[in-house]
Amino acid sequence: MEEENRQRRLLMVPAPFEGHLPGMMNLASYLSSQGFLITIIRTQFNFKDISAHFPHLNFVTIDDGLSKADVKSLGLLEFVLKLNSVCESLLKEFLTIHDDVDFIIHDEFVYFPRHVAEEFNIPKMVYSPASAATSISRYVLMENQSSGLVPPQEARSQLEEMVPEFSPFRFKDLPFTAYGSIKRLMVLYENISNRYTSSGIIHNSSNCLEDSFILTAQDKWGVPVYPVGPLHMTNSTASCPSSFEEERSCLDWLDTQKTNSVIYISIGSLAMTKEIEAVEMAMGFVQSNQPFLWVLRPGSIIGQESFAFLPEQFRQTVTDGRGFVVNWAPQKEVLNHRAVGGFWNHCGWNSSLESISSGVPMICRPYSGDQRVNARLMSHVWQTAFEIEGELKRENVEIAVMRLIVEHEGEEMRMRAIRLKEKVEASVGVGGSSHSSLNSLVDKIISLTS
Ligand code: UDP
Repeated sequence: MEEENRQRRLLMVPAPFEGHLPGMMNLASYLSSQGFLITIIRTQFNFKDISAHFPHLNFVTIDDGLSKADVKSLGLLEFVLKLNSVCESLLKEFLTIHDDVDFIIHDEFVYFPRHVAEEFNIPKMVYSPASAATSISRYVLMENQSSGLVPPQEARSQLEEMVPEFSPFRFKDLPFTAYGSIKRLMVLYENISNRYTSSGIIHNSSNCLEDSFILTAQDKWGVPVYPVGPLHMTNSTASCPSSFEEERSCLDWLDTQKTNSVIYISIGSLAMTKEIEAVEMAMGFVQSNQPFLWVLRPGSIIGQESFAFLPEQFRQTVTDGRGFVVNWAPQKEVLNHRAVGGFWNHCGWNSSLESISSGVPMICRPYSGDQRVNARLMSHVWQTAFEIEGELKRENVEIAVMRLIVEHEGEEMRMRAIRLKEKVEASVGVGGSSHSSLNSLVDKIISLTS
């Protein structure tokens, strides 16, 4: 009986990237509310002290000695591989001193706790902030790569072909990266996809969004999959502050706009646009005659720090009040504002979940990694979005905005997005599939640590 009531200590290891942290922090808060003692292990790299927002959690920082300069010099892919090798011995040191850890949950991109947990005989689970479709697509990419089926990047027409047994994804939709070589990407994916010894896989997703991919993941890895998301809806009491300064003035500007009239544009925390592409986007937004809210994150346009280089006509449209530009927006609130009728996005998984949980249809402009997978999921499975492909020209941008905001096609996508939003809301509510998955996860952790 005493054993049953004892508080279990969980170590949770998030990846130090903007899009990875909030979901895991929501999960940590939920598990803490269920009686677990939570210690969050953070890397020194990309460290922002968020402990004041989570007084119920314990935080420990491991001194990896890595900095943003290392990301620049190594490239993001090589950096992630290095971060993992550096942190493994540091976690070992921590566990040698702290022998009261019952269970470990780590983000899939920080896989260093896997070996350490095995050495210390601590059960573990992997947390994926991505879609289950992405998990499968990495696996499919590795298999096709090793059997020589993946066409080279320059073989454009072959890249358009459907991947055998992985419809509706084309070769070009597989999660290649812009941040390093394919050879090194396979090393990273080998590590991320090695989940066979985990006691389970926690996905920030929902059965109502991708049940067939969740089932496939369960089959492939032979361990339980817990689709507990969207986590930003599951636990609304705790919210993780952004590393960027939010410009809330855009909400006042939105108040002055007509319902469903505004196109909101953001490409997340990492993606970067070429200067020429930004100019075509700017002019396309001007020509569409629709109001727009554009997040121009500093550094997100290659070689430019501000939007002063954009054409005079664009800057005039902003001065006239039809456009609004910010460095960083309170995105979830923006998407939930009645004035926002569509979202131009790079298809990061968080943004995709946030668009669906707000019932907002999307124009997909993916750049790299899982973004193409998510774009295809939204455009061909959920049918709440369409993708704008190839070279961006102001005319295509204008047509795309009109399709989404003004035309009947956009209205139909909005209706489908709203229906999906209702399903997602039901899944996180009491008795819904994500809520039940969270309960099963809690039961599983208790059974593994008894
Ligand atoms: N985000 C935000 N304000 C912005 C742009 C993005 O708050 O102006 C948030 C967005 O709500 C999402 C996260 O940043 O939660 C981006 O995560 P995502 O997975 O979409 O993309 P990533 O940054 O990982 O590429």
